[in-house]
Amino acid sequence: MNYKDYIRVIEDFPQPGISFKDITTLLNNGPVYQAVINELAQSLKGREIDAIAGPEARGFVIGAPLAVALGIGFVPIRKSGKLPGATIEADYALEYGKDKLAMHDDAIKPGQKVLIADDLLATGGTIATSINLVKQLGGKVVGAAFLIELMDLNGRDKLNGIDVISLVKY
Ligand code: 5GP
Repeated sequence: MNYKDYIRVIEDFPQPGISFKDITTLLNNGPVYQAVINELAQSLKGREIDAIAGPEARGFVIGAPLAVALGIGFVPIRKSGKLPGATIEADYALEYGKDKLAMHDDAIKPGQKVLIADDLLATGGTIATSINLVKQLGGKVVGAAFLIELMDLNGRDKLNGIDVISLVKY
């Protein structure tokens, strides 16, 4: 299946010069969305993973169904101030903008093997920060899975050699 046929590219969003990959048109198609999750789950088969962590908001729409498909837990990574319990935080810089990400401080147990999932790998800043949070709690990041990877931005280089899976490359 060519997932690119279902991803809408919107130029100059959210600011001039950005060619935004809009996945809502793919999510809106049940069989295609299901195929994405099945393909990611299939490519992770046999790997030892205890939990999936995904950054809001699009990391949830890939990470949570992937966790269900693999029969493991999902850990939300959120913008600062959104999680109700005690949190740890880390700064991050986006392709456009800057913020803080947070995780509940008891969401991952020391030694747990965690896969990070998001819709898209751009500069790698979001995932590098997510890895930082998992490591702060003593978790071991065993890989990162994406629907889309923007190759020109070399996000993989920021991820210290962790195993990266992506289904669609631009
Ligand atoms: P990075 O931190 O790797 O530079 O940017 C990736 C993050 O920004 C992801 O969480 C992703 O949701 C969001 N993002 C950046 N550019 C795009 C884009 O073109 N399309 C989508 N869907 N998300 C993007």
